Amino acid sequence: AIAVVGSIHADFYVKTKRFPQPDETVIGSDFAIFPGGKGANQAVGCARLGVETYMIGAIGNDYIGSLLVENLARNGVRVDYVYKASCNSGVAFIILNEETGENMIIVSPGADNALTPEYVENSLRQLSNKVKIVLTQLETPLETVYRSIEVAKKMNMITILNPAPARELDNSIYKFIDVIVPNRVELQQLTGVEVNSIESVFKAGEKLLDHGVKAVVATLGSKGAAITTPWLRAIVKAFPVQVVDTTGAGDAFMAGLAVALLQNMDIVEAVKFANATAALKITRMGAQSMPTRSEVENLISK
Ligand code: ADP
Repeated sequence: AIAVVGSIHADFYVKTKRFPQPDETVIGSDFAIFPGGKGANQAVGCARLGVETYMIGAIGNDYIGSLLVENLARNGVRVDYVYKASCNSGVAFIILNEETGENMIIVSPGADNALTPEYVENSLRQLSNKVKIVLTQLETPLETVYRSIEVAKKMNMITILNPAPARELDNSIYKFIDVIVPNRVELQQLTGVEVNSIESVFKAGEKLLDHGVKAVVATLGSKGAAITTPWLRAIVKAFPVQVVDTTGAGDAFMAGLAVALLQNMDIVEAVKFANATAALKITRMGAQSMPTRSEVENLISK
């Protein structure tokens, strides 16, 4: 099984023809609430791909929290380790530009900040004979992220970190990370290398290897992803698709990668599987409109 340690949010979406300037009001069109949060998105992605998936995260004691847990369960995610905190649920406000497909996002973490290192450690210990891969991101407190990675590694699980959104990391954590998966912005912020070419992506990747990470998979948007390991430098191309909504593309990629690695694909095959998962997500609205395994396999075999 896969355990995802991370955020669980409700995303409040509104579309606009252009983003407002400071102090300006623009009229939007549709409004919708979608379940989100990088952790929950990635957990739903894994479950939709047919793998037993445990969510370790926190919701608030409000009605949004109940909706969020029901949504996870409906998508096949195990919710036994979702903690109910005595505060509000995490929410995100997302403005989607219909003209450019770009988005602007503000996250209010709420219950994410109530996810403690102790809670996560206990959950992982209870799951130790089921879980092989632990997937985490940076929308929960850093000490919780660090503890989950360290505990998971000490229990011989495979650790995958999606360092999103970009935050500065303690150098001592890298040696516990098997695969780190930044996008270009995060890669640049983590390494200080100006990421503006393929060469610079590998250079930044090598910096992370020097810190002790086993493999770096940098996502490159429509260009796919770059793999840097001590013995490999490779670009794996994206699948060309019609872009509808890129929200959650990185999360779909993470789910695809974790599922592929759980099933013992080699890293190049796994990144191809991840690209296909992300490509299919992009053709649909909403962060959690994740593809099934047969959809991904169809796209790959085309
Ligand atoms: P994030 O959305 O987290 O910023 P990226 O923009 O790098 O991350 O996208 C993540 C992954 O989504 C890419 O590695 C790729 O597989 C896929 N992807 C993103 N944009 C496109 C696109 N225009 N066409 C096909 N695949 C894409």
